Amino acid sequence: MFSRSMLKSVTYQNLLRTFSSKSDYATGYNFELNDMQREMQELARKFTKEEIIPVAAEYDRSGKYPWDIVKKAWSLGLLNKHIPEHCGGMNVGIFDGCLVGEEFSYGCTGIGTALEGSGLGQAPVVAFGTKEQQKKYLGRLIEEPLVAAYCVTEPGAGSDVAGIRTKAEKKGNEWIINGTKMWITNGGVANWYFLLARTNPDPKAPANKAFTAFIVERETEGLTPGRKEINMGQRASDTRMITFEDVRVPQENVLGKEGEGFKIAMKTFDRTRPMVATAAVGLAKRALDEATKYATERKTFDKPIAEHQAIAFMLADMSIGVETARLAWMKSAWAADHNLPTTTVLASIAKCYAGDVANKCATNAVQIFGGAGFNTEYPVEKLMRDAKIYQIYEGTAQIQRIIISRYLINEATQKNA
Ligand SMILES: Cc1cc2nc3c(=O)[nH]c(=O)nc-3n(C[C@H](O)[C@H](O)[C@H](O)COP(=O)(O)OP(=O)(O)OC[C@H]3O[C@@H](n4cnc5c(N)ncnc54)[C@H](O)[C@@H]3O)c2cc1C
Repeated sequence: MFSRSMLKSVTYQNLLRTFSSKSDYATGYNFELNDMQREMQELARKFTKEEIIPVAAEYDRSGKYPWDIVKKAWSLGLLNKHIPEHCGGMNVGIFDGCLVGEEFSYGCTGIGTALEGSGLGQAPVVAFGTKEQQKKYLGRLIEEPLVAAYCVTEPGAGSDVAGIRTKAEKKGNEWIINGTKMWITNGGVANWYFLLARTNPDPKAPANKAFTAFIVERETEGLTPGRKEINMGQRASDTRMITFEDVRVPQENVLGKEGEGFKIAMKTFDRTRPMVATAAVGLAKRALDEATKYATERKTFDKPIAEHQAIAFMLADMSIGVETARLAWMKSAWAADHNLPTTTVLASIAKCYAGDVANKCATNAVQIFGGAGFNTEYPVEKLMRDAKIYQIYEGTAQIQRIIISRYLINEATQKNA
């Protein structure tokens, strides 16, 4: 309790004096990046400007996987940032990794997904792998410019993960896997896959006991990636169906415990949804910058279109979206780094909000460009095509709202009990 005399001494100056030498002050609310974060951001920004932006349109046209860019980013240490030190990695936090991701995505979210998509396959191994598994599979990605993939969705089940049918049966010291995965990012280029399969044949078994997670080597007999899918946007990213026919996986490649796979697959998103939100913000910021530039150059009725209030307010709304969605990813990444109980809901809020903001900004940018917005010679139609996926992959906009509303209802029920 504060006494009267203490209250008198509670001035801003006194508080500053009291706390300036203490760690509480340094770790309080703070929007400033530290020197290391600024340097990483600068490096990624320079890389984006020099290596991604000049070739983005060409990769979008050709749909080629950008191996040369992946290799350059790898050689600069811009990839595989979260891999632990004992595997040769940098053990960079989620917040710091997201700073880099936003820069890549400003340049091109297709190439950005090619650069960061491997992180989705790696995340469960970082969080749940044994030291041996980490050294073998994560260490490999440090030694060579290789990528991983996350195989959960199937032709018959995406949002309803518990509906997946790929099954793994134990035979001696091995598992035999059969099934089909769909829409797998890095599906055709990955060196290994995180895979979720049903291991309990009882259809009544609860999800948190029915599935097991595996690490599967690409070069395993019976594993066949399909053709590269031709998607609406993010065309540089490699998306494929993958079939598993009697694929044999050793027991040592079970990730976590048998039956824990569903939890592992879902917890992965706590670490990766902030990154997806980050990428959506990078795209939204690009849309804002392109639209602002165009609006100050293009004239109608004897003045730049930016001076028409309808256009100026669209730009203002885009800016509001970029700033607030950035705060949302920052908070969610920070919560994930501190393993807070709110991590899951904050990750969903950030992913959902940033995905919507990216779509709104890209659509507004197309509108501001007028006819030129609808044309492939100008940059914004690509942004609109690329933006849509942020409301679909890593949990659709509807699924994020289900997670958020369930959290709210659960909190309220607990308070009322
Ligand atoms: C380019 C791309 C890359 C991808 N990369 C990967 C990857 O690397 N690894 C991977 O495992 N998966 C990946 N996916 C799959 C992606 O995560 C799924 O497509 C997504 O989760 C949606 O699943 P679905 O396509 O089966 O849609 P469905 O689940 O069939 O949903 C269809 C529609 O119904 C809505 N819906 C579903 N259930 C509900 C509900 N309960 N309440 C309200 N609405 C609902 C959805 O929001 C959606 O609008 C990728 C997809 C794409 C397109």
